[in-house]
Amino acid sequence: MKGLLKGMGVTLKTMTKKKVTHKYPDEPIRMPDRFRGIQHFDPEKCIVCNQCVRVCPTDCISLTGRKHPDPGKRGKIIDTYDINFEICILCDLCTEVCPTEAVVMTRNFELATYTRDDLYKNLEWLHENDSGIRSENNLNARGVKK
Ligand code: SF4
Ligand code: SF4
Repeated sequence: MKGLLKGMGVTLKTMTKKKVTHKYPDEPIRMPDRFRGIQHFDPEKCIVCNQCVRVCPTDCISLTGRKHPDPGKRGKIIDTYDINFEICILCDLCTEVCPTEAVVMTRNFELATYTRDDLYKNLEWLHENDSGIRSENNLNARGVKK
C-alpha cells in the first residue's frame, strides 16, 4: 500500500510538470538557428567556383556551369546543382566555404521518403527550400533580416 501511494505521488507530481515530449509530426518542431539542416541554394549567387564540391567529404555535390552567355559579362553561370542526401552528412562545410552564400543551411530536416531516388535533390528543389534559413545568411545588403 505504501509503495502504491508513493508511486501515485510520483505520477501526480510529474503530471503537473512541463512536458518534455512533442506531438511530432502533428506539431512541427522548430530547430535552433545554428541547426545544420537541408541546404538552400540560390543560383543567382553561385559563381561556379567549385569550392563546395572540393570541400565536401562525401562527394555528394555535383554541379555544371558554363561561361556567361552575355559577352559583356565575366565569369560563369550555374546550369545544374545536385546534392545526394543519401550520403550528405550535413556537416556544414559546403556552406562555410561558399564565398557568395549561394548555398546556406536551413533549420529544415525532413527528408523521409519511400525511394532512394527521391533523396537526390536538384537545383530547383534546393532553391525552393527557402524557409528556415539561418538568420546570419538571411540578411539583405544593409544587414536587415529579410
Ligand atoms: S553538408 Fe557536408 S556532406 Fe553535405 S553537401 Fe555539404 S559538405 Fe557535403
Ligand atoms: S555554391 Fe558557392 S562554393 Fe559552390 S560553386 Fe557555387 S559559389 Fe562556389
